[in-house]
Amino acid sequence: MPIANDNRVCVYLGEGLARYAFPGDHPFGGGRMEAFWDEMMRNGLDGSVTVRAPVMAAQEAIERFHTHTHVERVKAMSARGVGTFDDGDTPAFSGVYEAAAYVVGSTVDAVKRIMERACRRAFVPIAGLHHAARDAATGFCIFNDIGVVIETLRSGYGVRRIAYVDIDAHHGDGVFYAYEADPQVFIVDVHEDGRYLFPGTGAAHETGRGAAAGSKLNIPMPPGAGDSAFLQVWPRIEAFVRYARPEFIILQCGADSLAGDPLANLRYSPASHAHAGARLCEVAEECCEGRVLALGGGGYNLDNLARAWTAVVRALIETP
Ligand SMILES: [Zn+2]
Repeated sequence: MPIANDNRVCVYLGEGLARYAFPGDHPFGGGRMEAFWDEMMRNGLDGSVTVRAPVMAAQEAIERFHTHTHVERVKAMSARGVGTFDDGDTPAFSGVYEAAAYVVGSTVDAVKRIMERACRRAFVPIAGLHHAARDAATGFCIFNDIGVVIETLRSGYGVRRIAYVDIDAHHGDGVFYAYEADPQVFIVDVHEDGRYLFPGTGAAHETGRGAAAGSKLNIPMPPGAGDSAFLQVWPRIEAFVRYARPEFIILQCGADSLAGDPLANLRYSPASHAHAGARLCEVAEECCEGRVLALGGGGYNLDNLARAWTAVVRALIETP
């Protein structure tokens, strides 16, 4: 293990990540990373983190989670620059393969630096693409960087027990169903009830299959649920993460669960995101040598996204 050389929070920032933006008037458009960083600067936090340049993943790394067929299809559609991956929500564009590979590579680099103690904690905006399945892109998500991170922690670092906490408005179906039968991946997903919102999954009775029964916790929230509802369910989330005794904690802090998002109907403020970030840092200090990786996730109101992500990074910086 290299000697610790930076006990600060790492934030990934740069052109490679900014490339992951769908063209035209797509809700997942450009300017998301920039809006976040502007807010970081307005809050005087930009000097309190170590900025790291995006890293492009090798195909081999992407295929730790995804099928070769899916990766090759993304490459081919990226070269053509036209078409859609699903029913139209997730269009191809020229260079989409490289853009998605930068998202994956940056999260994998963050894991490496956390595991080698070169970063205390890390945040990767744009990442947290939780809908992509092993063999398909969907819901604006081409490659599932979370799945690649889970596979990397196992194959590269011998980590067995992993906790994944997802507070994005949408259920993280791509992660949930990939690990539904895996008893060592503990998933807590609090989201707007699937009866009202894409992808329509994540019912409370789904707790994991077979030997994995009890290793998953879905908490569907009614449309309109705000901070008080979030804070009310939080103790269950935290108790579950402690019960998991994880060796690594991943937080997907999608900002589309804030009031005013154009695609969802929850009404949190950044205070919910700050709470989740701070509490998970505390749990991580107790259970897993402080290892926390936060990923931006969704968020289609730029002002909300900027404030929620900045609140999480502030928690990563300021939690002892
Ligand atoms: Zn979302």
